[in-house]
Order: sequence, then C-alpha cells, then structure tokens
Amino acid sequence: MQPEELALSPDEGRFPGALLLDLEVYPIDQGLSARGVLNGRVIRECVRCVVEYEEPMSVEFEAEFRMTAQAKKGNRKAVAGVTSPDPDGGPANDTDEDDRDHYMLAGDRLDLADMLREHVILASPMHPLCRENCQGLCPMCGQNRNEAPCGCQEPRETNPFAMLRNLQQTPNSGTAKAAGSPRKPPKTT
Ligand SMILES: [Zn+2]
Ligand SMILES: [Zn+2]
Repeated sequence: MQPEELALSPDEGRFPGALLLDLEVYPIDQGLSARGVLNGRVIRECVRCVVEYEEPMSVEFEAEFRMTAQAKKGNRKAVAGVTSPDPDGGPANDTDEDDRDHYMLAGDRLDLADMLREHVILASPMHPLCRENCQGLCPMCGQNRNEAPCGCQEPRETNPFAMLRNLQQTPNSGTAKAAGSPRKPPKTT
C-alpha cells in the first residue's frame, strides 16, 4: 500500500517507499477482526543531533471492526443469547475482547487507514535516536559531534566518568605497536 493512504502528518511518520501490508481478516459476531503486520521503512529525526535517518518499521496490529458503536460495551450479554453457532465450533471466548481495539465498520468496506495510522503512531519511539550513542549537537557551537569534534572548551566536567576517561589515556603509546600479537601464518594451499 502507499503511505499516503495512511494520511499521516510529517510529524507522525514519513516513509521513503511503499508499505507492505500483511493482513488477515476473519468474521466475528458483528463485524470483522483484522490482524497482521505493516512493514516498511520510516524516516525519523534524531532528538539529539536533529539529523534525519531511516530505519525499518514493523507494526503489528489486531483490531475489531463492528457494525454499530453500541456493540462495543454494555449490551454484549443481551446479544449473546441470539448468536448463531460459532462457525469454528470452538467456545466463544469473550474475556479478552475488551483489550482489543474497536473500530466502526462503515458500510461494507473495511477501512483500515485510521486503525493503521494509530498503530503506526503508537509504535513510534518518543525519543528517536539515529544511533544509540549519538553525540548530539555541541551546546556551544551547534556542531554535529557525530561528524566531527568541534574543539569547543566544554565547561568543567563534574561527571565522574570524565575522570575515568582521562585515566585511560595511559602512556604506552610509544612501543605498543611492535609487541607481537600472535598472528596466523598465511595459508599456503
Ligand atoms: Zn543523532
Ligand atoms: Zn562546539
């Protein structure tokens, strides 16, 4: 399907290509149940460095589409008495229905766009990061520190890890390289 069909605002999701919808629909009491997964790639903006990046997206969903709004709650019991036998023959299991999402079934068309849009939004991270250890922008000059260090003098660090970092620069820089780590001999076949 085309991303435009979801009618997402740019804040909610932008997609570089088509989305793949893997859908399974089966009839229920007063409508249809739909479940599946929406796959594609999504463009996000990193909250630290404000750079856009692309990543795979896979949104699972399960939702029920009912003919009438009232069917949602309350009168389910009244309806239960007159239901036709379950086509699957299995016992009807009502207990887990309420934590599924309900949508209106308008006419005879199953309109998935609203439901999918909501799931895509819910699946989006609150604080997207281009990478786990994104260095972000320099608070002083605005340089993207993933691309290059800017050399700004950071304010005196009170962070204990800063001290550790200094300790790690131990003075074995002179001779370290030649010390032979055992190398595999070149294969002669
Ligand atoms: Zn970033
Ligand atoms: Zn800077």
